[in-house]
Amino acid sequence: MRTRNLIFLALLVVAIVMTAAAQQTTSAPQNSQAGSPSGQTAPAQASSAQTQSTLAPPTTMDQVVDRAIVREKDLIKFLSQRTPVVETYLQNLTQDPQLGPIPQDDRYFLGRMDLSDSIDRSDFLAEKDKDKEDSMEKRLLGSLTGKFKFQYQPLGFSWMIYADRNDFDRQHYEFHYARREFLGDVRCLVFDVTPKKDAGRGRFVGRIWVEDQDFNIVRLNGTYARPSRNTYYFHMDSWRLNLIPGYWVPSYIYSEEGNFTAGAKNKLAFKAQTRLWGYNLKLGKVDDELTQIRVDSVKDTSPDAQDASPLAAEREWQQQAEDNVIERLERAGLLAPDGDVDKVLQTVVNNLLITNNVELPRPVRTRVLTTSPLETFSVGNTIIVSRGLIDVLPDEGSLAMVLSHELAHIVLGHNLGSQYAFNDRMLFSDEGTFHNLGFKHIPEEETAADKKAIDMLKASPYAQKLETAGLFLKALQVRAPQLSALLQAHLGNSIVENGTVTRMAALETSAPALDWNKLDQIAALPLGGRVKLNPWDNKVEMVKAQPVAITSARDKMPFEVTPFFPRLARYNANAPTGNSTPATTAANQTATPATAADAAPSH
Ligand SMILES: [Zn+2]
Repeated sequence: MRTRNLIFLALLVVAIVMTAAAQQTTSAPQNSQAGSPSGQTAPAQASSAQTQSTLAPPTTMDQVVDRAIVREKDLIKFLSQRTPVVETYLQNLTQDPQLGPIPQDDRYFLGRMDLSDSIDRSDFLAEKDKDKEDSMEKRLLGSLTGKFKFQYQPLGFSWMIYADRNDFDRQHYEFHYARREFLGDVRCLVFDVTPKKDAGRGRFVGRIWVEDQDFNIVRLNGTYARPSRNTYYFHMDSWRLNLIPGYWVPSYIYSEEGNFTAGAKNKLAFKAQTRLWGYNLKLGKVDDELTQIRVDSVKDTSPDAQDASPLAAEREWQQQAEDNVIERLERAGLLAPDGDVDKVLQTVVNNLLITNNVELPRPVRTRVLTTSPLETFSVGNTIIVSRGLIDVLPDEGSLAMVLSHELAHIVLGHNLGSQYAFNDRMLFSDEGTFHNLGFKHIPEEETAADKKAIDMLKASPYAQKLETAGLFLKALQVRAPQLSALLQAHLGNSIVENGTVTRMAALETSAPALDWNKLDQIAALPLGGRVKLNPWDNKVEMVKAQPVAITSARDKMPFEVTPFFPRLARYNANAPTGNSTPATTAANQTATPATAADAAPSH
């Protein structure tokens, strides 16, 4: 079963005593007034970096290297109490004569990483996993072993988080200054790093980028040296973001192997994206919850309020279930906090509601699932769409298509999940989320929702934009057999069943023919281009990337994995997400119907 690949491990949850350091930055509203950031958001962890800054600036490259080594050890220590979510999505590639390397099949992994000690120790697995001797990464990458003869020691490809967790020092490595280079807004000193002769197997070899203020490593690119026979180390490009003062947090890792030159013998070919997030999840900390839960409970304000009528009681019950689920998913790191992307989604939902004269007793809310697989579901009046799905949608019309289906469930009263109003049902470990929660509708409700959704779309401003929605489904149909992991829903109904697009399939018939060679026809986007997830606080925002002209069919890369190239910026306390560029700040201020379309690449 595919779900077996999906291992959501909760490791020993150390009851982390959060210091002021770990306080979630208060959701700074976009007032952007210049002024000192509020005192409570100045984390204590900055002190270490500030000490660094007040040190005399290094005068030689050797001193820079020494400083970078110290900073790396500080980072390892700082993150040692964190258990971020780690997600790897991998596409095995095959050569298509026309389109180049395209996905042949795919794999998905979701887990929780304990950064408290060396990653290959086995005793950090939860008690119930004790009988399995496999280390975590072995389990995480289990399905790859036969295929790739993967070398686990010391790090799997999900794990180029540090160059060398234990021995990143001059005893084990040579450092050679290469040059200065800007990564985004950040000036860096670039060093080539090679293991010394007797440093042993599994040592980092490659390049590091060190920012020139506090001398933190912000990017690592390379592999691990001297594999033994029948083993293989993948190449990785690992990026860090300055999401909190003083520290650059490992965030994205891209990995790629494959040689498609004529006569190449190596059959191994894949590309994979690994994302880390949820560094600031407050696991099991009850007294933190007051700051986390957003309860929009129904308040009866009528002066002569009595007990709820049967219908009112039913609605309140649904609301309770909805709030429970939202809170639980957010606590597991699977749901982004309410934010700017929701405003975009909400606008589309409102456009559909208003033009269809639908009035609901409670407002419809939208939220973003932090994961990549393409899925949607709704619980109570909240529509949830995955980050990956928003990424690949080509335009606002297709976003409306996706939302309209879930909205139809709500309008038709297809409420699922009232059982979650019982709080005992929320008492499960994070790794049990996908086993304990489920929002799959029966086929009859799916059919009814599709029909209702198409009726609503036709009466809405999106009636003229349904061709691209249909094209999106056509593109999905072409790739569906190869992308079963990406298309496997974990909480709701899958958009594709048994390799065939079922969701809103009627729209395919009215769409124009899919033609990869038509450069102005963008049916679906690559993953990762639209929604930016903040690895520290899980907030999401719309990416405002400069449109890049498509010059060949190979540029389209629908549903594909691509390298990461984040625009690095220093921590900015005033920025809504701490890593904002002027462009993304602008995105935060728009919540008009045009926003979703604005984010689409130019045609
Ligand atoms: Zn449905």
